[in-house]
Amino acid sequence: MKWTIGALLKRATEILRERGSRSPRLDAELLLSYSLGFKSRVELYTNFDRPLTEEEVENYRKLIVRRAKGEPVAYITGRKEFFGFSFKVERGVLIPRSETELLVEVVYERVKDKEGLKIIDVGTGSGCIAISLCKLTKNKHEIIGVDISEKALKVAKENAENLSCPVEFKKSNLLKEINEKVDVVVSNPPYISFDDKRVDREVVKFEPAVALFAGKTGFEVIESLIKEAREKLKPGGFIALEFGEGQGERVKELLEERGFKGVKIFKDLSGIDRVALGVKEDV
Ligand code: GLN
Repeated sequence: MKWTIGALLKRATEILRERGSRSPRLDAELLLSYSLGFKSRVELYTNFDRPLTEEEVENYRKLIVRRAKGEPVAYITGRKEFFGFSFKVERGVLIPRSETELLVEVVYERVKDKEGLKIIDVGTGSGCIAISLCKLTKNKHEIIGVDISEKALKVAKENAENLSCPVEFKKSNLLKEINEKVDVVVSNPPYISFDDKRVDREVVKFEPAVALFAGKTGFEVIESLIKEAREKLKPGGFIALEFGEGQGERVKELLEERGFKGVKIFKDLSGIDRVALGVKEDV
């Protein structure tokens, strides 16, 4: 049988649905569009009735098999959209999440009318937060991304280059290698507890544990980061942090215990508390 784009998409969607994907149609489209070298999924629809060669069908089949075994689409295509920008990702680097866009928005709102601030993105991963902030603020601030993982730093540097962003990347365990005072600390740190049973199996299997898990309580990294940020922030500077479902109250408390003022909690698009912001008191 000769497959058309439309028919093959339908079949792949059915297979991925049966295999438990939560977004089978989107996955099927992203993988076919990648496999055919299209720039966007729209091209699938403008070529809906186009027949595919045997080789094209075979190449796509291999990708669907990988996806059916649970591999995230972003690791198969090597790319993930975040804040409208396309980021390179690979195994060993956390795939940017749409929830994290809220963190970027919260910081952007507070720095957009200023200039020359020193902003540190802690645990930068693919660099998605640092680079999106750099794009949005049009290089008005000095942005540094730090990570403990060499692999993450390599990918983040490539992303900064591809997106023409002068972000500096540096190896550091949290803020330990930062020797100057900064205006903003932003981070999507690991915040999952080792005992949390809600984490998707495919996330645990494919994504880096160091980017996800914090320790027994889930607050271990957030706690250390708040403590270190207290030392490194200039008076009047602020910290913005992402955290997990149900952690908001405790994160607020931790910030207040360390003297952060005006602590605010922001909800993500699903209505879940997701981001905390606290200002270091003026001294
Ligand atoms: N900053 C990156 C992101 O938000 C990586 C975060 C992490 O590794 N915990 O996607």
